Amino acid sequence: MTNWREKVKQAETLEDLKRHLEKLDDIYPDSCHLASDQLLFMVKDGRERLVVAISKGERACEFEGETSQLGGFTVKQAHLNAKNAQVLRSLLPWTSPQALGTSGISMGLGDRLGLASPGHLKAISGTQVRPVLAQQSMRELELTNRTYVDVLDAATWAVFQAGYQGGYGADGDHLKKIEDIRMALELGFSMITLDCSEHINDGILKLDDAEVQVRYNQLPASKRQELEELYQNQRYNLQSGRTINMDLEHYRRMVLTYHQALDFMEEVYEQVIAKLDRMIDFEISIDEVATPTTPQDHFFVANELKRRDIKVCSVAPRFCGHFEKGIDYMGNLAQFEEEFAVHAAIASHFGYKLSIHSGSDKFSVFPIIGTYARTTGYHVKTAGTNWLEAVRVIANVNPDLYRTLHQKALDSLAAARKYYNVSMDLAKVPDINTLSDQKLPELLDQDDARQLLHITYGFMLQDSKLRADIYEVLREHEDLYEEFLIRHMNRHLKALGIKE
Ligand SMILES: [Zn+2]
Repeated sequence: MTNWREKVKQAETLEDLKRHLEKLDDIYPDSCHLASDQLLFMVKDGRERLVVAISKGERACEFEGETSQLGGFTVKQAHLNAKNAQVLRSLLPWTSPQALGTSGISMGLGDRLGLASPGHLKAISGTQVRPVLAQQSMRELELTNRTYVDVLDAATWAVFQAGYQGGYGADGDHLKKIEDIRMALELGFSMITLDCSEHINDGILKLDDAEVQVRYNQLPASKRQELEELYQNQRYNLQSGRTINMDLEHYRRMVLTYHQALDFMEEVYEQVIAKLDRMIDFEISIDEVATPTTPQDHFFVANELKRRDIKVCSVAPRFCGHFEKGIDYMGNLAQFEEEFAVHAAIASHFGYKLSIHSGSDKFSVFPIIGTYARTTGYHVKTAGTNWLEAVRVIANVNPDLYRTLHQKALDSLAAARKYYNVSMDLAKVPDINTLSDQKLPELLDQDDARQLLHITYGFMLQDSKLRADIYEVLREHEDLYEEFLIRHMNRHLKALGIKE
């Protein structure tokens, strides 16, 4: 019989029991909470976590699980399944996701495996950062064999385990279809990132001026007239004192690039978002394209959103340079700084947060982001590199499994490259057959190997044997994974100027 059961037998009241349980190490002490005359907490049972509800007398908690009597109490011990996550959210409202609003600093802390959130919460504790713990795109769901229910429930259990009551978000990330948005909202997601890439005309960038003129003239005359009055050769003064100039040549390209995307944003907003009876965070993403969002483009999109009465919490432009997966920013830092300052001023002018996607490991631009967007507020999405920290754990504690994963990555690279655009050079990835076990973790510090291991995660996780092995190692080395995640997130927070 484990320790916590002894304490239940001896306790007089739930308050008394709570005080005693918080000192034990077979439970997660921060999870102990009283709600509706029940004491709730999470216990470690071997490698599994369970939720326990204790009530005075005969009344048992609604969790589906095993009921027993101990002393004067009824004990319900239950698995961390979907039904029980729902019960927990109704008992402890802070375990439900919530909208985080249009200001302040938030971070997307996507958790591919459903194991990283406790470490993420520890990393941000004591800072002003508000976490979006559940954050997956349809592509990531497919590649990890998970559903939105799993993703949301993992976040619910993580905040419960950590006793984190600061409020967290759940992001239906890069959604492109109305039915997917409805599904995420029905499950209780608190944020929708609308991916407009399929409606942005990415080809305009390459056309010559004459062709642009021809295409522009094909737009309906009424639309041209309306937009010309508003934007063509216009100057706009932002509250910060900066000026946006819409010269004629760029004006036409801008309209052709974005006009259909704007209609799409309006359609989604009117059909779904405006009809909701609760607050959510609605983010507009125009970043998943090749066409960089110039400050003029950003202003145009922002001003059209306002004119169409579309309320957003954040906008994600496609910044200059490259934000590739798993590695630092690539591009001209001086240009990035100059343009980022204007993007932040535009966001501030229109009253929303600036959103930075693929934000893992972009250490060279973090000081710029932290400086210029601090007062406006910003949202940085990170996710993928907590997977790489998981792989780092495996490289450290189970070299044989690491070697198998590495081989799987090599075998699936060609297929993975269809999903992810990366510049990695396979020739630069050291041959693992020449490396001793002790040297394997160093691969996680080499850019080409990082991208190799990063973009092939789905192929490793879809192999059921590998998947089981990965989860087993990470559950067994929960503390080491947490330690690596905290160290990794601290590097982000320090570079952003959030932590000392
Ligand atoms: Zn994006």
